[in-house]
Amino acid sequence: MRGILFALMMAATPMMASEDIADQYPGSLLYSKPVEFIPGVWSAIGATAPPTYENSGHNNNLSFIVTGEGVVVINGGAAHKLAEALHEEIKKITDEPVIAVFNENGQGHAALGNSYWAAQGVDIIAHVDAAHELEEYGAQILSGMMRYNRDKGDGTEITVPNVTFEDEYILEKGDFRIEARYLGPAHSPGDISVWLPNQSLVIAGDMAFHERMLPIFEDTITADWLETWDTEFEALEATYVIPGHGHPTNMDQVRKYTKGYLEYLRAQIREHIDNGGDLAGAYYVDQSPYEGLDTYEELATKNAGRVFEQMEWE
Ligand SMILES: [Zn+2]
Repeated sequence: MRGILFALMMAATPMMASEDIADQYPGSLLYSKPVEFIPGVWSAIGATAPPTYENSGHNNNLSFIVTGEGVVVINGGAAHKLAEALHEEIKKITDEPVIAVFNENGQGHAALGNSYWAAQGVDIIAHVDAAHELEEYGAQILSGMMRYNRDKGDGTEITVPNVTFEDEYILEKGDFRIEARYLGPAHSPGDISVWLPNQSLVIAGDMAFHERMLPIFEDTITADWLETWDTEFEALEATYVIPGHGHPTNMDQVRKYTKGYLEYLRAQIREHIDNGGDLAGAYYVDQSPYEGLDTYEELATKNAGRVFEQMEWE
């Protein structure tokens, strides 16, 4: 009897931080079907998980704006076929052609599908630093994707954006003024946010995370990210946010899981350093307030180590 009760209790326990989330759109390579978040602005929400064969590398948000004078896509997608799958969905929604594709940075899931879009004759637009990442590390990024994506990666080639900018790139189409902005150093080189002032919506890119733990890479300078957040990202005063990862939401929510997490982790590491702690101990600072986030298991200790290495020298 006790055994059965125990089994029932276990079954009723909500799953925490699991990446075993089933594909939500089995009929497509996309992890989920695009949804219209506000009129004209759609997003296919990626899995809040590492890239896998099952999610086809669709673990970031692939958004598009149906402007009335053409469709603007935000993110090339992780592979040629994934970009094609997104295009299939766009064609079901509108007859307007895709006129531009933005890469939110130089990461694989932002830019590896560029070869598909280039073959459609579409301009691919990114920050100069994102283009540089692809020029410098494209071969590694491509082989990393092929390792998990195998046949789903077929047809993918490195295609560097043909249009680059330093501060901002503005498109005015239909009801939309689309401002692609470089707000400053954040998560990775060449991060941009796409700001729609008329709709008060920002397609934030990796500036903002939701529902999953953010990854701190070797080149993610957390102090700079926080400064960019406070001085530039907050200044947009966006009503709606489509984050780089996780469902569309508002500023309060992405502030909690992005700026809030960065500040929390930095405070934990600061205390650890002040108490004479070393790198080996830094991996295990308490991050329990965030353990319910997806990718916690993969990232929490790594993030702590990287923040320690940075803060040692601050
Ligand atoms: Zn991302």
